[in-house]
Amino acid sequence: SPGLYVVATPLGNLADISRRALDVLSSATVIAAEDTRHSARLLQHYQIRAETVSCHEFTSEGKIQYLLSRMQAGDSIALISDAGTPLISDPGYVLVAACHRLGLPVHPVPGACAAIAALSVAGLPSHNFRFEGFLPAKPGNRKKALKSLAGETATMIFYEAPHRVMACVEDLVEVFGGDREMTVCRELTKRWETVRCATAESIAEWMKADSNQQRGEFVLVVAGMAPADTGDEISDEVRHMLTVLVGC
Ligand code: SAM
Repeated sequence: SPGLYVVATPLGNLADISRRALDVLSSATVIAAEDTRHSARLLQHYQIRAETVSCHEFTSEGKIQYLLSRMQAGDSIALISDAGTPLISDPGYVLVAACHRLGLPVHPVPGACAAIAALSVAGLPSHNFRFEGFLPAKPGNRKKALKSLAGETATMIFYEAPHRVMACVEDLVEVFGGDREMTVCRELTKRWETVRCATAESIAEWMKADSNQQRGEFVLVVAGMAPADTGDEISDEVRHMLTVLVGC
């Protein structure tokens, strides 16, 4: 039926796609892809031959209008990103919001998402979590963003680029303290998949000692601050946080 289908695609292992996602992609009139060349591998693998158009962060208003008019004419459009779930640190928000404004139906076709895959294997409290996506790229801004999370008690999830991951882990040690538990999830579902849970300090040492551990795609899952002590004594964690805050 007409409308927009927001379709999750694999994070790396091509088998991680649902039967429904394949059905929707096969029957869509148009597939709007973040990067049509990148998605060609997936679509070829599953012999899906629908028309593809690019739809990324910088897609023009005209292109969005074109997709909307096709849906208004009765077409079904599938939105995919390079990996995982569209709109999760990925483009698509403008198109989805425009569909709602025009009363066009929007259907999720759920599947892989790096943040959720990482949380599911992190071994850290998962009843409550805070997805932060990418931290600012500039060191000063990254540290500032981390300091603003110093009091967060929920588990935090970050995406990070390989060329920044070492510096980011070092900042985590500095801002949250070396004893904070964290899990590095690297190359999930791919050949070099690595999941390591340890204190921030020992993760930093391990990563520094082996540059291979700085390659690929990363999700960093970081435990929240331990709930404050009810006694009069201030905990080491709170003392560390005060030191960090006074230092800014
Ligand atoms: N929409 C995607 C999702 O649902 O997870 C995320 C897109 S975002 C532009 C890309 C980031 O997701 C990467 O830089 C990395 O932090 C994370 N990521 C994607 N695939 C991953 C994988 N296989 N293993 C670890 N992290 C991954």
